[in-house]
Amino acid sequence: MRLPFFSYRYSPVICVISLLLVRFPAFSGRKIAAPITISAADGSNDTWRNFAKFLDIGKGNRVSGMSELKKYFHRFGYLSPPETVNFDDTFDELFESAVTKYQKNLGLPLTGKLDSDTLNLIMSPRCGVSDTAAAADGKFRAAKRFAYFYGLPRWVKTPPITLTYAFSDDHVVDYLSSDEIKTVVRRAFSRWAAVIPVNFTETVDYAVADVRIGFFRGDHGDGEPFDGVLGVLGHAFSPEDGRLHLDAAETWAVDFRSQRSKVAIDLESVATHEIGHILGLAHSSVKQAIMYPTLSPRTRKVDLRIDDVEGVQALYGSNPNFKFSSLLESDTSSNQAVQIKTRLCWPSIFTVMILLIVRM
Ligand SMILES: [Zn+2]
Ligand SMILES: [Zn+2]
Repeated sequence: MRLPFFSYRYSPVICVISLLLVRFPAFSGRKIAAPITISAADGSNDTWRNFAKFLDIGKGNRVSGMSELKKYFHRFGYLSPPETVNFDDTFDELFESAVTKYQKNLGLPLTGKLDSDTLNLIMSPRCGVSDTAAAADGKFRAAKRFAYFYGLPRWVKTPPITLTYAFSDDHVVDYLSSDEIKTVVRRAFSRWAAVIPVNFTETVDYAVADVRIGFFRGDHGDGEPFDGVLGVLGHAFSPEDGRLHLDAAETWAVDFRSQRSKVAIDLESVATHEIGHILGLAHSSVKQAIMYPTLSPRTRKVDLRIDDVEGVQALYGSNPNFKFSSLLESDTSSNQAVQIKTRLCWPSIFTVMILLIVRM
């Protein structure tokens, strides 16, 4: 039987040819670095956005403004300031080890250079909690990528543990209703409550609640000032402090269909992450985990992953109703989603073929 030219029977052959053509392009050219795609859109934190100019800078180089990047690394726990002078603009050995440590903590290839993947993450909106607030406790950390705060603080109460939470009446945003905020925060708490034997109940008494939630602007008196649109999105304190602060300068969204801003941040995603800190988890190096420190605008990331669950259960034990199998299924289905995406590259390979044929 005669097969049409683009029959799927020929597709493996065509794919191999296409890949060879892509691998060995007809034109020779200099190596082009992967483009910097700044996930922060217009109106983003300017200081972080300027870091794009440091692309592919490595040890020994001196570039004006690098001291700002060193301050960033200092802020998130990777670099100590020099004792006598301020940070300078030289990419020195100490800075290289800070970059490598950052790459390790965020699950990136350890190049020690400011490559595009590293800079993209540095410029991404993120949580204000330091990445190196983590305890390296051998009992829990072996082969795990979740982490805890120093001293492994947790809420110590007689089981069954119930934590109360309340919203500040003074520190609010006016474009979301109280009901909208309460609904998404309740869902965020319920995700953690489903995996550990801890209950969360809302109370109106902000002063005495275990967990106190509010939207704060700029310097708000806890030594961790917020920085305006994007940049740092929020932060929370380790047990048993209970403060959960969100940057009031963000465009918080409870539904991206009604909030069209390019810099909108999903409230539920950030609340779920910050509750992890409230319970005692530090940042994870697993990109899919809730406890990974960065979150792009207009992105929803609310499901606990195995890494999050194993981490929090090591502190509190498992909720008797929780089954790991349900989580394994959801992790597997997202892997399948990746495979499906890979399969979808076939049409683009055909397009490349057609273009090459037309050009010949
Ligand atoms: Zn965080
Ligand atoms: Zn704060």
